[in-house]
Amino acid sequence: MKFVTLPAGEQVPAFGLGTWNIGDTRSQRAEEIATLRAGLDAGATLIDTAEMYGEGRSEELVGEAIAGRRDEVFLVTKVYPHNASRKGVPAACERSLKRLKTDRIDLYLLHWRGSIPFAETIEAFAALQKAGKIRHFGVSNLDLSDMKEWWKIAGGQAVAANQLLFNLSRRGIEFDLLPWLREKRVPVMAYSPIEQARLLRDAKLAAFAKRHGMTPAQVALAWLLSKDGVIAIPKTGRRERLKENLGAIDVALSPDQTKELDRLFPPPAGPQPLEML
Ligand code: NAP
Repeated sequence: MKFVTLPAGEQVPAFGLGTWNIGDTRSQRAEEIATLRAGLDAGATLIDTAEMYGEGRSEELVGEAIAGRRDEVFLVTKVYPHNASRKGVPAACERSLKRLKTDRIDLYLLHWRGSIPFAETIEAFAALQKAGKIRHFGVSNLDLSDMKEWWKIAGGQAVAANQLLFNLSRRGIEFDLLPWLREKRVPVMAYSPIEQARLLRDAKLAAFAKRHGMTPAQVALAWLLSKDGVIAIPKTGRRERLKENLGAIDVALSPDQTKELDRLFPPPAGPQPLEML
């Protein structure tokens, strides 16, 4: 397993498990739970969820999957922007803890920017941290200007990660946001790393993968894993696909392969507005 160091010095796996849409279909539940457990067995011990996912169904399924194994897991969940107030954050956190059947969240993220002032959210996160309910806090979908604003607020520099849309077909953050975060040693959690499976249908990627003896998903994930300070959180509810995706950890892209990928999926030539899914 490759690891990424959080600003506070703790190491977390660079390959985590996404869980959007997990827990939505009863007939898939057993396989989804088995997949998350297989991920833990393989050392992919970071699990990403959110109160939003299935309005709590994803957190509930995660709670079931990690039962008896809580201490192995680095658990990430997110608060809705409309709950990100002084009173709303602790209440949302309690609901998440209950669904996750645990007494602490390892990393609690603001899901995206809403209308509640950042200062209030930071204050609430810091209070939860002091109370031992969350170990770290961070943000998601914050662009460079938002990030700079967050950073200037008292306590804001304790931000442990920014979770962002980042994959071969969405490279906008490489122009300015990623370098800024790197300078501050704030890791990026790359969400939708295979573009919700759309990248797998890309003819250029398919041809590249075939030429180099990998699958398209492995190329897309290996490309993210090759970047310092980046954690990829692909989602799958199927053990077979998880096994395929985990194969990306053993791939070391050569400089020539990276150059070829840059030709096929060019990096940004200028600043771009932050994309979200
Ligand atoms: P993703 O991980 O890029 O793609 C997931 C989709 O790809 C699922 O439909 C999955 O289906 C399929 N898939 C996975 N591996 C595959 C493989 N090897 N071959 C074929 N299909 C495969 O997209 P995502 O779920 O949007 O992003 C990952 C995680 O990031 C989410 O689950 C969530 O935890 C997080 N996220 C965060 C935000 C945010 O705003 N912070 C936004 C989006 C996502 P099966 O499950 O059926 O295999």
